Amino acid sequence: MAAVHIELSKEFGKCLERVFFPDFDSYLMAFDRKKMGVEGNERFALIWKPRKTIEDVPKTHIEAVGAEWKSLRLKFLNACINFEPNSHPYIGKIIDSDVQRQDAYDWEDSFLVPWDRKLGLGEARDLVRKVAYHHNIDPLPKVSKGKGEVDENGKIFSEYVDGNIHLANLTLMHTIHESAHMVIANGEYGDELYTSHGPVFVWKLISLYHHYANIPLDYMISTARDHELLGDFSYHKMSTPKSMVRSP
Ligand SMILES: [Zn+2]
Repeated sequence: MAAVHIELSKEFGKCLERVFFPDFDSYLMAFDRKKMGVEGNERFALIWKPRKTIEDVPKTHIEAVGAEWKSLRLKFLNACINFEPNSHPYIGKIIDSDVQRQDAYDWEDSFLVPWDRKLGLGEARDLVRKVAYHHNIDPLPKVSKGKGEVDENGKIFSEYVDGNIHLANLTLMHTIHESAHMVIANGEYGDELYTSHGPVFVWKLISLYHHYANIPLDYMISTARDHELLGDFSYHKMSTPKSMVRSP
């Protein structure tokens, strides 16, 4: 995480305000451009920046510029409360790119496999029902065993789609992973629009692996953190459903 901050301060200097949105793993930052040596009437700027570099997505996006900090600050605060990612093309690209998907898979495959085991279809259904019940998900999803879809790397994957879970492999890990998608898609912590394998998802995944596979929390958090899957650790106070602000 430290590396991320060094990079940010190098690129932008000291920003006036910064907020982190875990749903789409990005910052909204406000800058005084005069302090950064940029001349011009539009002294202040609001800029979006994803936490991770994403191929085919510009590194930053200027949201607004203005001569008055007061009016931009209102925009900044408004974004923290009312921001609609689905009507924002730049954030839409970030969400669609799902940049840490492969990293999340790799983390599960590298660190959690010792706890994995095969399940019967009945056991997988029971587990999904338990998770659904604990998260007030109604109607209950259908759970089926299928061939699975194949991604661009030839990996067979399970899916949560249209409220139902298709398992390519009847294993504890596949069942828990798809259950985490089910929980987030039903609105717990994440909005309906979020980065599929972003920080909000990985935190939920960790919680489910802990409860349903008995994997130690500290082990998962430290390994996921080492792989930069958890968002920005310096922002941990949830201020609105969408954003996290720096705690004092
Ligand atoms: Zn997934």
